[in-house]
Amino acid sequence: MTVARDATFESSGSRPLWMEQVLARESAHEENPLRSDTTLDICIVGGGFTGLWTAIQIAEAEPSIRVGVLESDICGAGASGANGGFAMTWWPKFASLKKMMGTDDALRLARASEEAVVKIGQFCDDHHIDAEFMPAGWLWSATNTSQLGSWDDTIEGLSSVGASPFRRLSRSEILEMGGSQRHLGGVFESGVATVQPAALVRGLRSAALAAGVQIWEKTPMLDYQVTSRAVIIRAPGAVVTADQLVLTTNAWLARYGEIRRHLLVLGSDVIATDAAPERLASVGWTPGLAISDSRRLVHYYRPTNEGRVIFGKGGGRLGFRAHMNRSVWATPLQKSEVIDQFRRTYPDMRDVPITNSWSGAVDYSSDSLPFFGRLGGSERVHFGVGFSGNGVGPSYVGGQILASMALGRDDEWGNSPMIRRPQTVLPPEPIRFLGGQLVRAALRKKESAEDQGKKPSPMLLGITKLDPTSFVG
Ligand SMILES: Cc1cc2nc3c(=O)[nH]c(=O)nc-3n(C[C@H](O)[C@H](O)[C@H](O)COP(=O)(O)OP(=O)(O)OC[C@H]3O[C@@H](n4cnc5c(N)ncnc54)[C@H](O)[C@@H]3O)c2cc1C
Repeated sequence: MTVARDATFESSGSRPLWMEQVLARESAHEENPLRSDTTLDICIVGGGFTGLWTAIQIAEAEPSIRVGVLESDICGAGASGANGGFAMTWWPKFASLKKMMGTDDALRLARASEEAVVKIGQFCDDHHIDAEFMPAGWLWSATNTSQLGSWDDTIEGLSSVGASPFRRLSRSEILEMGGSQRHLGGVFESGVATVQPAALVRGLRSAALAAGVQIWEKTPMLDYQVTSRAVIIRAPGAVVTADQLVLTTNAWLARYGEIRRHLLVLGSDVIATDAAPERLASVGWTPGLAISDSRRLVHYYRPTNEGRVIFGKGGGRLGFRAHMNRSVWATPLQKSEVIDQFRRTYPDMRDVPITNSWSGAVDYSSDSLPFFGRLGGSERVHFGVGFSGNGVGPSYVGGQILASMALGRDDEWGNSPMIRRPQTVLPPEPIRFLGGQLVRAALRKKESAEDQGKKPSPMLLGITKLDPTSFVG
């Protein structure tokens, strides 16, 4: 399989606020590009949360195994250094989990995702990673009347199997927690945390190095070839020969047709305000509380330790085939819209300056859950993708699955029901791109009408139902 050298591999030039902050703190940063041929037991390609958790879990389980990570830019340059920093569970996706694998496995995986959030906090403590881990929970809210009750089916489905991770809130509790009159209703999940995501991913890089993992940054995989005895991975000027290859390149995995059939790459746009801790305190936003609303082009927002607001919106740029030029993806498409939504949600903070904006690519699977597997029918090549906007916490579970797959373990993770292909196949290009643009435009119109208290037309509603992506549900 050949991957052309193109703008995909160039650094985007500008980095999200999170990465700027962390890189400024790092005393010396050795990128250590791969310069000579090397041999590994397991080669991981992609230095984000998924690749680094996989590497760490392999190194912890089997310290004698030679494991290395190739990263085309620097660790955290993808979604892991750009996201909202909500470390969530799979409880809001319980209905999809249950549909896919039945009640028992769904419960097991949802619990594992909840434990993963706790383990991430513990890992940060144990390895002295200052990722600003704040287990303050998540407010799943409604910011217009049509969103009210969006959580009902999920809560009822969970209660029918004896699980109750969500607590219904009164309006006054919601106002007290979230500090915005725009929240008309909502439920609270206590098992969610917020993190400074770039500090977490860069901390994982350091922890992986300390555990004996080799990391080569500025080292793109150009292509790979499977032989009867090994996988040969080609990088500029050097070759890695490995027994097993693990691909954790997230949205970049869309370049493989067999993955692209189930994967939609969609941008998410983010803004950050200046630090204004006294203003946050005066609106009454609970420190560290993650909030999102229930629209499809989701609004998600959280305060930071230093008192900034991070406000993001889904439904940005739509990927075409595997075109992943970094500077294009780093530029937010909906910046003014996101600023406007932030100011409508927190009018008392409307004069706080906006200092940063960025964007990143989200890997939506066709059934909103990640999927893992072997590529090209080879027992040596593994991948994990499709976190669908909920990967900060679940990438820990992804690392457990991929570590077991690469180690050939016949255990809970090596046999996980997440090792599968989604049943829904997305249409090919250009139909997918053109259809996607139409659906996205319809969603914007529908959600804007609902914000104004208007009823969208049946035709508009019909078009929006074609959207396969979902952040919750
Ligand atoms: C704006 C935004 C907001 C989000 N908000 C949240 C949130 O609040 N909560 C949440 O849970 N999830 C969120 N997500 C999703 C979450 O960030 C991802 O699910 C998660 O970071 C995925 O991690 P990853 O390691 O799989 O991918 P990535 O972090 O994207 O890592 C993939 C890596 O592969 C590298 N790479 C690509 N091609 C090659 C190659 N050929 N050779 C070598 N390296 C290569 C890339 O440079 C990149 O570093 C958000 C995503 C975005 C974009």
